[in-house]
Amino acid sequence: MATKYIFVTGGVMSGVGKGVATASIAKILKSRGFSVTAIKIDPYVNVDAGTMNPTEHGEVFVLDDGMECDQDMGNYERFLDTSLSCANYMTTGSVYLSVINKERAMEYGGKCVEVVPQIPLEVISRIDKAAKKNKANIAIIEIGGTVGEYQNILFLEAIRILKIKKPKNVLLTLVSFVPSLGAGGTELKTKPTQYAVRSLESAGLHPDIILARASVPLDQKRKEKLEFMCGLQEGDVISAPNVESIYEVPINFEKDNISDRILKKLSLKAKNKDLADWRDLVKNIQNPNGEVKIGIVGKYFGSGDFVLTDSYISVLESVKHAAYSWNKKPIIEWLDSDTYEKDAKLLDELKNYDGIIVPGGFGNRGVEGKIKATEYCRKNKIPFLGLCLGLQLSVIEFARNVAGIKDATSREFDKKAKNAVIDIMEEQKKLLFEKHYGGTMRLGAYDCEVQPGTISHEAYKDWAGEKSGPYIISERHRHRYEVNDKYREILQKKGMTVAGINPKSNLVEIIEIKNHPFFVASQFHPEFKSRPLKPHPLFRSFINAACLPAGRQ
Ligand code: GLN
Repeated sequence: MATKYIFVTGGVMSGVGKGVATASIAKILKSRGFSVTAIKIDPYVNVDAGTMNPTEHGEVFVLDDGMECDQDMGNYERFLDTSLSCANYMTTGSVYLSVINKERAMEYGGKCVEVVPQIPLEVISRIDKAAKKNKANIAIIEIGGTVGEYQNILFLEAIRILKIKKPKNVLLTLVSFVPSLGAGGTELKTKPTQYAVRSLESAGLHPDIILARASVPLDQKRKEKLEFMCGLQEGDVISAPNVESIYEVPINFEKDNISDRILKKLSLKAKNKDLADWRDLVKNIQNPNGEVKIGIVGKYFGSGDFVLTDSYISVLESVKHAAYSWNKKPIIEWLDSDTYEKDAKLLDELKNYDGIIVPGGFGNRGVEGKIKATEYCRKNKIPFLGLCLGLQLSVIEFARNVAGIKDATSREFDKKAKNAVIDIMEEQKKLLFEKHYGGTMRLGAYDCEVQPGTISHEAYKDWAGEKSGPYIISERHRHRYEVNDKYREILQKKGMTVAGINPKSNLVEIIEIKNHPFFVASQFHPEFKSRPLKPHPLFRSFINAACLPAGRQ
């Protein structure tokens, strides 16, 4: 079967949920028996997302192969329940870089290399490679940004070229914002979307389907108006109202028969129609039996009331997956670590939570506050999950307050530290010294041997099955610093358990603290592998502990 291409563009403004729309269409088509892959094109000159600040761009998501990419890739993996690779992500920067490298290698045979057509052709060839690598019948490609802006014009040009070459195999969707006015905000306005369609037309494109993002479902009249004014066939405007949970989106799209519309346009015959697993998930989400309240102590929250939850989107989703699996409604609150530095009395608020997470992070702002929060959770037996930096700070806290190494710290915070219980990896030293920041951390999947008799071993039974002896699991990483081997023995003697190690390098991957209902921290990021239908074992057992009133004070 020839590859079919479905492009997803955005109209009117950013933040309308193109990523979730792309992931949802992918999920629906997969459920209809096709092999589907999802690709993201970001209009940034950054070669990957690794150097972007999470407060500006949201979370940096990491793939098995170490690709640092946009958080939407996380949505694709979660909805498709598939692990993707670097073939599925590109930026303006990465596309230009390969064109320039090819030119330097004389691969254009002495021709004059021009922005058009070379850049769009490179984009198309990458899309084809990704489809091939994933053995996909259907490739869904999300174009970052909004139509009408300068940055993504070459990607629209790629769609135009591909449409000329394969008119029957290309479908274009526009996820567009339909604002509402008037009392109660129910008067939906279609004009901005009409302008967005004109923008597409000025790039030589016309949408086949419009996904109308609005606060409420679109009424028939508004649908007809959009169809008529934007030159669409009847039924090609799909209502995309606000939802409580993003996992409802595929079900909503199917209410307007999106998959039938798409398959008909691409002349595809569906093998089946089955979103049963997803419907069960949504039913579960909508009918919880109690709540679980989790606090996340971090610093990427922006300032004032503005909470940039996008910085930790995978952590958030992982908590939700785990909570849903125990049929609980997750209540997640953000706790700014800076405040604990200023006023230690505020730490008492941690008692109001069933569990606390200290997630990943970089730099030393807010770390003393996070260490204080960690100490509080350890002493007050509050279920605690530390992720990456969260593990490093747990080790520092334990070294200072239990092992008596008062000046214990990380090399990241103090280059001249005497007791760097967290130190830089040998191979990282040179890279940092030479200021090679992009794509140079310990990135992607590494094995971890999980020791029997630990909380983690018990947890990973979910994935590894009932087995005696250590489990070998694979988890994703993104860090430069590590537990310093020199201190491992003393920390273990004082009651810290090393529950997971890398079998090749012997690096510490998971630590636990004894005589505590749940104190687990990992050097890797389990949140990158949690899926709604396959919650991550560590999150699942953390939430389980958080739901139990086990021996807390
Ligand atoms: N800053 C720490 C390091 O580089 C932790 C990174 C993280 O939390 N992802 O090792």
